[in-house]
Amino acid sequence: MDFKKILRRMVKTAAKHQPVAGHRVYCEIWNSGQRITWGSNHETHFNDPRYMKNDDAVGMHAEVSALLRAENTPMTMRGAVALVARARKTERGGQFVAGLAKPCPGCMRALSDYGVAEVYWTENQETPDDEVVVGFEEIKEKT
Ligand SMILES: [Zn+2]
Repeated sequence: MDFKKILRRMVKTAAKHQPVAGHRVYCEIWNSGQRITWGSNHETHFNDPRYMKNDDAVGMHAEVSALLRAENTPMTMRGAVALVARARKTERGGQFVAGLAKPCPGCMRALSDYGVAEVYWTENQETPDDEVVVGFEEIKEKT
């Protein structure tokens, strides 16, 4: 699998999403050459102003969103690979480039709990013409 190529495409997908607290993050989980689920960061209490008062409680991360979407097929997560891309606008020009999308500790725990084995993410890119740099971490299975 050419995960770098997939992540380049995913940055474009992330750019189309509505930002949440300024962030556009998109996650796909792949296993045996197939995309088995996806998710984006989003507000969990969207469209209801009654629940928008606590800014800390309205965001779901893309990784957890992808895992929940696949909740009915947990077995397919074993040995899977999570890809996380972030799109951010450059300071000047407002073009989208890749941004650092390393999963937070909570998402890493969630990926591990579901049996995901590896995670790749985009690193900060300065201009759209620069190479997309990819970060990687093996997720150790809990004993
Ligand atoms: Zn997270």
